[in-house]
Amino acid sequence: MSNMPRILVVEDEAAIAELIEVNLRHAGYESVLACDSRAAQREVDERLPDAILLDWMLPGESGLALARQWRANPRTREIPILMLTARAEEADRIAGLDAGADDYIVKPFSTKELLARVRAVLRRRAPHATGDAVTVGALTLDPSTHRVMWNDAQVKLGPTEFRLLHHLLRAPERVHSRAQLLDKVWGDHVFIEERTVDVHIKRLRENLCEAVGEAGASAIETVRGVGYRLSAQALSAS
Ligand code: CA
Repeated sequence: MSNMPRILVVEDEAAIAELIEVNLRHAGYESVLACDSRAAQREVDERLPDAILLDWMLPGESGLALARQWRANPRTREIPILMLTARAEEADRIAGLDAGADDYIVKPFSTKELLARVRAVLRRRAPHATGDAVTVGALTLDPSTHRVMWNDAQVKLGPTEFRLLHHLLRAPERVHSRAQLLDKVWGDHVFIEERTVDVHIKRLRENLCEAVGEAGASAIETVRGVGYRLSAQALSAS
């Protein structure tokens, strides 16, 4: 599983879907295709994407209806949605934005414009998904170099611990339940047991401890009966 932003492309016209996919991939994104609303919902159930490019006119349920459902569901409410459509009428644009779309791209579009809008929406709605380095106190994680530094000490992490730490760094001090971590870091929330999270948290603490000693281990706090939290206080004190 990569750390690049993952974009779900919901589009029933294969030629357009492929064009978008190739361009997203060249721009460094991971993209997943869905050709109708059922396939799109399956992808979203399996793993939350960082953004969704959503065609308005789909066979079966429309893109507009899907956008409304995703916005009404707490699990999917925050995902940036860009509507793709041949409809350029003002009334339709307003309906799309009213349904919760973050932006609106009219076909035919230039791929440069599409990529610029994807970047803009990710920066606005999901700054963690732009691939920028994240720093909290002494700790810096850089997704582009896949490197973690605690001041001058490099922290060596496995891929799962890296994603887990990346997620925790995005929201320091916030308590994450095991179920939330499974959903956001693993994605296969249906199939993986919650104690898997405990195993990887333990490994992450050990890796931090190897790099910088006890201060490293105490950066990740257990909140009894709730879950885990990255302590910004512990990180700024060191
Ligand atoms: Ca279509």
